[in-house]
Amino acid sequence: VTKEMMLQKQLVWSQKMEAVGILAGGIAHDFNNLLQVILGYSQIILQREALGDKAKADIQKITSAGRNGAELVQRLLAFSRKAESHLRPVDVNPHAEQLKNILERTIPKMIQIRLLLGKNIATIKADPSQLDQILMNLALNASDAMPDGGTLTIETGNVFLDNSYCQTHAGVLPGQYVSLGVSDNGFGMDDTTREHIFEPFFTTKETGKGTGLGLAMVYGIVKQHGGYITCESEPGQGTQFKIYFPAVEIPETVPATKPEEVIPKGGIETILLVDDEAVLRDMGGEILGQGGYTVLNASNGAQALEIYMKERQRISLVILDLVMPGMSGKRCLEELLKIDPTVKVIVASGLSVDGHSKTFIREGARRFVSKPYDVTHLLKTVRDVLDAN
Ligand code: ADP
Ligand code: MG
Repeated sequence: VTKEMMLQKQLVWSQKMEAVGILAGGIAHDFNNLLQVILGYSQIILQREALGDKAKADIQKITSAGRNGAELVQRLLAFSRKAESHLRPVDVNPHAEQLKNILERTIPKMIQIRLLLGKNIATIKADPSQLDQILMNLALNASDAMPDGGTLTIETGNVFLDNSYCQTHAGVLPGQYVSLGVSDNGFGMDDTTREHIFEPFFTTKETGKGTGLGLAMVYGIVKQHGGYITCESEPGQGTQFKIYFPAVEIPETVPATKPEEVIPKGGIETILLVDDEAVLRDMGGEILGQGGYTVLNASNGAQALEIYMKERQRISLVILDLVMPGMSGKRCLEELLKIDPTVKVIVASGLSVDGHSKTFIREGARRFVSKPYDVTHLLKTVRDVLDAN
């Protein structure tokens, strides 16, 4: 019940944000046009030679106010996802490094900047300048929250958001993501503040210091990128923002040889391995057998269903080949889910996939492994899935 209430609350919240976004977007769009007219005619008048110095100076003031207005409107447009964005493959780490360089020169010296950048971070599809805007806004807020100094941490990493995560986070699709964290140990915020931070014009800063558009813009940009943002904060305990961007490529490719790598933990569960190719069945069986598992084999979808119906009590996991003659892996997955909606299935394929695996994960598979199997990766994935709820 708590989970449902939480989801319900999240849903109501996101619907509210959606409505505010439409309203703000409409206003911003119209204001943008008006401001363009004001700025355009100001420019034209300024070109007139006969214009006196006083008149020129006055029109400069109109221009500069107009520009400020246009900037504000741009942020509102970003919030309502109407800002133009040019998406291309982006690596987040260099952006974090660049931000650190800029911040070191601009924010107070009592604030330490710490970078914790993950290795082999997946590529994301992003507008580089919008990514910088996100980082800059979060960092400046963090800096504002630490008037007496502190530590600002920027973190990046690869994460897999699984079904159980998505069940507690409305609107999140399972899959591979790049996480970007910005945290501080500043004064933090209470629950009421935290509930409103993404709304446009919400600010707790004194007039002239804050516009309340920073996080609204961040929110809009993240949404436009198909991502998610979370905020954790307690008064006096600092604040942590986390953004998840969908990864473009799934970093499946485990480096070819890594002898010092520890073989992941095995288990005693029974696994049903479905593959039409005997060699791969044998190889998979060998690897899983070494891990201590009992392996049942099926060489096609129909056989897999038959075995699953008979043995479902003892089968804890199904590893399913995607491309098989006869019943496809996809069909087989659907049928398995019909028999048992909680069945744990890992999809395996020799195709190098990216959108592909996401589709299967959305359809109910837990994870994806590429073939030919990599010992470490297969055992680790199997263990992870078995241990997850
Ligand atoms: P602004 O910075 O102009 O106030 P923002 O949209 O960037 O607008 O932030 C909205 C509000 O969210 C801030 O006024 C502040 O109350 C709160 N906030 C944002 N980031 C932090 C943070 N890191 N620590 C504490 N409060 C924060
Ligand atoms: Mg701000």
